[in-house]
Amino acid sequence: MSKKNSLSRREFVAGASSLVLAGAAARGGEQAASPATALAIQGGEKAVKASAVSGPRWGDVEKKQLEAMLQQGSLFYWGGPQTKLLTERFQEFCPLEHVQTCSSGTAAIHIAVAAAGIGLGDEVITSPVTDIGTVIGVLYQQAVPVFADLGAGTYNLDVADVERRITPKTKAIIAVHLTGNPCDLNALKALADRHNLVLIEDCAQAWGARYRGKPIGTVGHLACFSLQNSKHITCGDGGVVASSDERFGPLLQKYGDKGGNRSKWGGFDAFATNYRMSEPQAAVVAAQLTRLEEIAAKRARLGNLLTEKIADLPGIIPHQVHPEDRAVYWFYMFRMQPEGFRCGRSEFVRALTAEGAPVRGGYIGVPLYGEPVFQKHAFFAGRWPVKEMGLTTMDFSKHKCPEAEAILVTGMRVPVNEFWTEEYVLQVAAAIRKVARHYAV
Ligand SMILES: *Cc1c(COP(=O)(O)O)cnc(C)c1O
Repeated sequence: MSKKNSLSRREFVAGASSLVLAGAAARGGEQAASPATALAIQGGEKAVKASAVSGPRWGDVEKKQLEAMLQQGSLFYWGGPQTKLLTERFQEFCPLEHVQTCSSGTAAIHIAVAAAGIGLGDEVITSPVTDIGTVIGVLYQQAVPVFADLGAGTYNLDVADVERRITPKTKAIIAVHLTGNPCDLNALKALADRHNLVLIEDCAQAWGARYRGKPIGTVGHLACFSLQNSKHITCGDGGVVASSDERFGPLLQKYGDKGGNRSKWGGFDAFATNYRMSEPQAAVVAAQLTRLEEIAAKRARLGNLLTEKIADLPGIIPHQVHPEDRAVYWFYMFRMQPEGFRCGRSEFVRALTAEGAPVRGGYIGVPLYGEPVFQKHAFFAGRWPVKEMGLTTMDFSKHKCPEAEAILVTGMRVPVNEFWTEEYVLQVAAAIRKVARHYAV
């Protein structure tokens, strides 16, 4: 029998038995045996029939910009036309006074931390569920990352827990807008102001996001962005750090460029490494910035659509976004409440995969403090001078953020991208509904 015929026969059977199935579904769905409602993992039809569309992330705009760059006599960032264009375009969507391009998001955060005056034994409170680049600069400044717990559905800093972890040594908060979902910035800013702390925004996953209508990066004192290949816009590797705060903004250039001020040379009055971005990279970023609004708007629409279609499912926690914010879904993450299902996450994910839904379990393997280098405090040639000097009592092997740990165990992520169609997202939602109903207790 041809594939076409067998499919149409299945559809007919599914239609004819829909009444029976509705009854079966109401009793828990276990008896649902039609190919249309049976799980694909048990031989039923796949819920996702369309394939994920991908597309070219760069093309003529980048090519033109690179050609213009090749006409230049210098490829160095200082005074470079590509860096200038990048800066202007960056400021159009994130209107901050001082902008420094750099080699990575990790570099952007290190520059911000250094400009904020973070040093020996200072504590910086941040999220344990993030790219390790969030804390690399903190550790290189000989400061101490202190991990706070997260909101169950936002995956962002729980402000009450941040407050509990403030000590006289706390100097800053790094708010990570995980997946491009804005943190509760008003609450974090108020807390930072009350305790005289610097608020640094890690916007690496949040290009184009908006907090209560404001561009991401404009509420905190300093904003850091990554241009690594997997981020919304890219030049392969790169970063941007920016600030309108007159205490920190003017320092960004020298902390990104060996400690020297290029606009008013006065030798080296600061110590810093070389985090510069070159003109070829800047040309690509300047071009990529012309695509940003479309990418951000499309991802926001697709992620919100997924929420709309799965929000009512018992036992499923959709990605929690404030209605006045724009989340830009670097990925989408939903959670299962384990007590609501007859299966664990790995079986749930296997069933979704069989349905054709591109869903994976978790995000990073363990919270950052669970990584071997933290557990052993082995940051500098196997040692941690700050601890050996008695400047911190931090013991990462005893650190606990229960909600963050639970998020990584029960979370499932959907790698949204701007080339997907709404139809595809609806099919992914249907797959989640089908699998969730099947395994519901
Ligand atoms: C990617 C990322 C970083 C680090 O950026 P790189 O450019 O890879 O150094 C930092 N924080 C978060 C949240 C990220 O996603």
